[in-house]
Amino acid sequence: MSSDTIFTKIISREIPADIIYEDDEALAFKDINPQAPFHCLIIPKKPIATINDIQVEDMPLIGHLYRVAAQLAKENGFADEGYRVVMNCNANGGQTVYHIHLHMLAGKAMGWPPYTEKLKV
Ligand code: 5GP
Repeated sequence: MSSDTIFTKIISREIPADIIYEDDEALAFKDINPQAPFHCLIIPKKPIATINDIQVEDMPLIGHLYRVAAQLAKENGFADEGYRVVMNCNANGGQTVYHIHLHMLAGKAMGWPPYTEKLKV
C-alpha cells in the first residue's frame, strides 16, 4: 500500500489545512468535516497506515500523540469537562485515510456506543 495519502500532503503543505499544533514528530489540524464543536486530527509525521502496522519502535510516538491530545484539550479548555480520542482501523472501524490519526472530539457530551444498530450478541 502506498504511504502517500492526503495527510502526507498536509504535512508537506502541498494542500492546506487549519494546523493547530506541530513538532518534529506530530501534526494536529482541524478535521475538514467536524463531528463535534471541536474536532481535530493528531497525526504522526511518520506514515503508518493502520493500527495493525504500529511497530514496537513506534510506541513512544503513539504515546506522544496522546500527550499532544491532552495538551490541546488543556489549551482549548476541554481537559476538565472531558473529550474523546479515537483511532479507527480499517473498514469496520470506519478508517478512510490510511495514515494513522487520533480524532480528538470535544465541546459536547458524546454518545456511546458509536453504532446506531442494536448489537446482537
Ligand atoms: P478516518 O475516517 O480515516 O478515521 O478519518 C479521516 C478523517 O479525515 C475524516 O474525519 C475526514 O473528515 C478527515 N479528512 C479527510 N480529508 C481531509 C482533508 O483534506 N483535510 C482535513 N483537514 N481533514 C480531512
